[in-house]
Amino acid sequence: MQKIAVLTSGGDAPGMNAAIRAVVRTALYHHMEAFGVRYGYKGLIENDIQAMQSRDVANIISRGGTILKTARSEAFLQPEGRALAAKNLKDRGIDGLVVIGGDGSFRGAEILQNEHGIKVIGVPGTIDRDIAGTEYTIGFDTAVNTAMEAIDKIRDTAAAHERLFIIEVMGRDAGYIALHSGIATGAEEVLVPERITNVERLVQMINYDQKRKKNVHIIVVAEGDDFGAEPLTTILKNKYPKMDVRMAVLGHIQRGGSPTYYDRMQASKMGYHAVLGLKEGKSAVMVGIKNNDIVFAPFKGGCDKKLSINNEMLDMVKVLSQ
Ligand code: ADP
Repeated sequence: MQKIAVLTSGGDAPGMNAAIRAVVRTALYHHMEAFGVRYGYKGLIENDIQAMQSRDVANIISRGGTILKTARSEAFLQPEGRALAAKNLKDRGIDGLVVIGGDGSFRGAEILQNEHGIKVIGVPGTIDRDIAGTEYTIGFDTAVNTAMEAIDKIRDTAAAHERLFIIEVMGRDAGYIALHSGIATGAEEVLVPERITNVERLVQMINYDQKRKKNVHIIVVAEGDDFGAEPLTTILKNKYPKMDVRMAVLGHIQRGGSPTYYDRMQASKMGYHAVLGLKEGKSAVMVGIKNNDIVFAPFKGGCDKKLSINNEMLDMVKVLSQ
């Protein structure tokens, strides 16, 4: 392999820059030419591709977002769009592509390989941590730390006023950010899409807590929860008119910011191994982490399913917040 390209696709995640840096520098070290594609598959179709040198990725390891920008592309869902994308790569003699993104981006990469023979390796980059085949996805640690700090701050004010706070965190249809930030902040309850929300049980818990003079409640709700933070806030406000029930949506602050040590390290490792994988002829696989080791999981059957949530950790929330 002589020439490889890298792109970021789908939702952005802090640490993607560290992965781009690792891909470019590892490729250059192994005497390959490296190219950066801007705006994901959209840029691939629009030929927004540039050669990248070592200095082009200087001073980005500490920055959130992605210097290559990211996008979603409707055109790439069509065979004509993918044919154009493949042509743009082949015209430059690029025979390998590293896709930093989520499972949707990997599905696209696999089809590109099947239709046009481009070798593709995925690097999991999503704050949602919802990709099977890896125990870690780039951005999760930073997002969860941001959520944790925000919830800590809300708890201070909740305690001062004896309020009940419902805090919505990100995660699309996965509950990992909610579960992990909830445990780390001592939340009284964590609601996730993976478990049906039982409002009756929640009300019983609040009643019980009130009886024993536990007057601060933090309920962390994943944005994809089947019940949802807003309807829950309405119900609890009606149920407890004397209680000060508030809702906070943390939103996009969870996506930004300087990546944590852990995200920089995992992104560097995964980017480095993605290039080595391509060099060894691997394709249609995602670089993943299992038991702290690098693994390659096939797109098909390996990472197209959702990672299941740890039920014991969900049960732990109740035990530790008594
Ligand atoms: P993520 O990678 O974060 O899961 P998306 O699901 O939005 O994000 O996917 C990113 C892009 O990948 C889409 O905009 C589309 O261009 C491409 N893609 C997703 N699914 C497919 C598919 N089945 N076939 C071809 N391309 C796809």
